[in-house]
Amino acid sequence: MDVDDHAEELASTLGVDKTEVKSDLENLVAYSVPVDEAVQSIRRKYGSDTGNAAVPSTKDVDAVDIDDGNVTVTVRVITVGCRTIQYQGDEQVIREGILADETGTISYTAWQDFGFEPGDSVTIGNAGVREWDGQPELNIGQSSTVAVETDSISVVEHDLPCPIGGHTSLLELRPGNRGRVVDVEIIEIEERVIDGRDGETTIHSGVIADGSGRLPFTDWGARSILSSGETYRFDDVYIREFRGAPQVNLSTFTTVESLSEDIEITDDAKQVEIGEAVDSGGVFDVEIIATVLEVREGSGLIERCPECNRALQGGQCREHGAVEAKNDMRVKAIVDDGTGAVTAILDRELTESVYGGSMDEAMSVAREAMDKSVIAEEIRSTIVGREYRIRGNLSVDEYGANLETAEFEQTSDDPATRAQSVLEEVTS
Ligand SMILES: [Zn+2]
Repeated sequence: MDVDDHAEELASTLGVDKTEVKSDLENLVAYSVPVDEAVQSIRRKYGSDTGNAAVPSTKDVDAVDIDDGNVTVTVRVITVGCRTIQYQGDEQVIREGILADETGTISYTAWQDFGFEPGDSVTIGNAGVREWDGQPELNIGQSSTVAVETDSISVVEHDLPCPIGGHTSLLELRPGNRGRVVDVEIIEIEERVIDGRDGETTIHSGVIADGSGRLPFTDWGARSILSSGETYRFDDVYIREFRGAPQVNLSTFTTVESLSEDIEITDDAKQVEIGEAVDSGGVFDVEIIATVLEVREGSGLIERCPECNRALQGGQCREHGAVEAKNDMRVKAIVDDGTGAVTAILDRELTESVYGGSMDEAMSVAREAMDKSVIAEEIRSTIVGREYRIRGNLSVDEYGANLETAEFEQTSDDPATRAQSVLEEVTS
């Protein structure tokens, strides 16, 4: 059956004018809609209960609504990010990013390579509209068409989430961003073996920095070129959430280029209020100024499972039962800055420094007292009630907010002086 035959049949079963039906059919087929699908659309259009127009309407980006079935838009391509996903059991390469016109921006997913690149102006015909996070998003698939426009489509630069091409500072990156470009220095990098989809996989992970801040990164391709202290441009990274903070991901599609010039990186962590940081779900590398309210159980000298590193409870690991314990030291301190509270977790090194002695020294003190808790007690009497400048990674999980602490320094301001200054303010 050709289009004419289909039109004939539709016209007689639906009781409508054949020329009208045929023109609708031809229109859909011109947008690469398979003929069977087109016939179904026409049936819906002329059916008694639904009045949905089957032919995609041409829209400005800000007018695209989640209830639109499909639309045609003329836009500038802002970013293009490539990624492999598992789709119905197969590996498929998809392209994701942002499109814009003068009225706004919209995210898209393209299920095949239409060949467009950042900066291109294109008309996308018959793009499906779906909802993502309450916002409309374009689905560009088999039945869509992409035609290059010769005239450049203008966009409102300051309304874009990033410049055309995707260059973004680390501070501005958000989970969900695709096809971004960052210029960074690698601060830390380590090789790890993980149990991935295809068995054991070697990856690289670490920390990168630019002039705006620091973020964790993972290179799923474990590129040998990457090393600490060197600067690179990562072109086409995607951002995921890791412990509440953005994480930069390099896929096999990311291109890595060594930069010949040094880049100015910041050594300072972002200063935050605890309440705000906890509400945001987590922040990587922050600095807070807070007072220690309490040193929690499980601080001081502790024992860990040699298998999984969990702290033992009464000599037993939750997972591995009775094991030969490994000694360790840590502090879990509840700190508060007036806006909220978080548990600062200090590793062995920081704990030794607040205790004022090595773990071996602490062990012999505990042996002499025949009680390990004397160490936690000593730490408690040193830090509770004092104010500290604390730097680390803040994360929030079902048990509460934790700050994996990297720096823990008492502020110059001691409680007596603070009380005195408050008193002066009150009396002056
Ligand atoms: Zn264990």
